[in-house]
Amino acid sequence: MPNKSSNKGHIPVRTCVVCRNRKDKQMMIRFEIVKGEFVIDFQKLMTGRGFYLCDDNACIAKLDKWMNKKKFKRGRDDFR
Ligand SMILES: [Zn+2]
Repeated sequence: MPNKSSNKGHIPVRTCVVCRNRKDKQMMIRFEIVKGEFVIDFQKLMTGRGFYLCDDNACIAKLDKWMNKKKFKRGRDDFR
């Protein structure tokens, strides 16, 4: 972690839901859970509750586990 106060630019960072690492949000995949289903927000225009995931195979591979833990399952329509 750099000690100098280099706040110029102020790059927004987001926390990956899988590995909890913080990264430049440009480097991450934004997705939402819509009616219990995983939907990638490619255009970053969705307005619901969003989550961020590293654009990384290791994190993508673990996403299913995360979704199970959060009880996000395909086919459920009672998630609000
Ligand atoms: Zn990650």
